[in-house]
Amino acid sequence: MLRSVFLAAADSSRLGRLVSSASVSKKAARRFVAGADVADALRAARELADDGLGITVDRLGAETVTAEQARVVRDEYVALLGRLKTAGLTPAAEVSVKLSALGQRIDDRMAYEYAEAVCATAAEAGTSVTLDAEDHTTTDSTLEILAELRKDYPSTGAVLQAHLRRTEGDCRELATAGSRVRLCKGAYAEPESVAFQDALDIDKSFVRCLNILMSGEGYPMVATHDPRLIAIAEDRARWFDRSADEYEFQMLHGMRPEEQARLAAGGNIVRVYLPYGEQWYAYLMRRLAERPSTISVLGRALVPR
Ligand code: FAD
Repeated sequence: MLRSVFLAAADSSRLGRLVSSASVSKKAARRFVAGADVADALRAARELADDGLGITVDRLGAETVTAEQARVVRDEYVALLGRLKTAGLTPAAEVSVKLSALGQRIDDRMAYEYAEAVCATAAEAGTSVTLDAEDHTTTDSTLEILAELRKDYPSTGAVLQAHLRRTEGDCRELATAGSRVRLCKGAYAEPESVAFQDALDIDKSFVRCLNILMSGEGYPMVATHDPRLIAIAEDRARWFDRSADEYEFQMLHGMRPEEQARLAAGGNIVRVYLPYGEQWYAYLMRRLAERPSTISVLGRALVPR
C-alpha cells in the first residue's frame, strides 16, 4: 500500500514543488542526493573517492519531450564530465545516463547521437558512461543504441533488470569480453506479461543472471543492497575464479553505507550511484516506495545535531 502512495507522490508535480521548496526537505534529501548542482555532486564525489569508493554520477531529470530539452541534457553531461576531469575525479567517477533524457522517446537516432557526444567526452576525460535501464518499452532501443555506442566506446556499460523475463537471454548476449553489465532487480512497475512480480521469483532470476555474467567473459557490476544476493555474488566470484578487480558491487548513495565500507575494506571494488539535480523529489519518493523504513532515516536527518 505504502509503495503505491510513494509512487503516486513521485508523480505529483504539485506536491513535488511544495516539498522541494522546503529547506527542511532539502536537508533530509541530502543523505540520498548529492545536492542541486554540479558543485554539490563534485563535493560528494570527492568524499566518496577519498573513502576509496568508485562513483557513477547521475543527473536527475525527467524524460525530455523536445529536442531542445534533450540538447540541454547532453550539454550538461558534457560540462559535468569536464568538471569531473578538471577536479581529478576521473577515472574514479563515471556517469550514468538515461536515454529518455536524451530524447529517446522523440527520436532514437537523436538519442544515439547525443549519447555518442557524451561517450566521446567521457573517453577524453579517461572515463566511461553507463546507460541506465528504464521501463521495458525502451529495452530493445536502449540495447540497440548500446551496441552502436560500443563499436567506438567499448567500455560503455549496460544495465539489465532481473525482474524482466527476457533478461537471462540479454545476459547471455552481453556476457562477452570487454562488456560491462550492471545487474539490478529493476525499479519500474511492469506488467506480469513481461516481468516477474513475486519477490522470490525476482531474486531467483537475479541469481540465474548472476551465474551467466560471473561465468562469462564480461565485467559484472552487481547493483543491490540485498545481503543475500551480495553473499551469493561473493560466492559466485570465488566459484568462477574471479579476482577482486574482475567485478564490482554498486549501491545507491546513502543506502547501507556501512556495507559499502565493509565490502571496500574486504578488497572489493564498490561504486556508489550519486544522483544530483533540482529534480531530487521524485527520486526520493521512488526510494521510499522501495523501502518505506527509509522514512526513519529521513526523520533522523531532520533532527538538529
Ligand atoms: P531490495 O529488494 O530493495 O531489498 C532486499 C533486502 O535488502 C531488504 O529486504 C533488506 O534486507 C535489504 N536492504 C535493502 N535496502 C536496505 C537498506 N537501505 N538498509 C538495510 N537493508 C537494506 N533500477 C532500474 O530499473 N534501472 C537502473 O538503471 C538502476 N540502476 C541502479 C543502480 C544501482 C547502483 C543500484 C543499487 C540500483 C539501481 N536500480 C536501477 C534500482 C534497482 O533496480 C532496485 O530497484 C533497487 O536497488 C532495490 O533493490 P535491491 O536489490 O537493492 O534490494
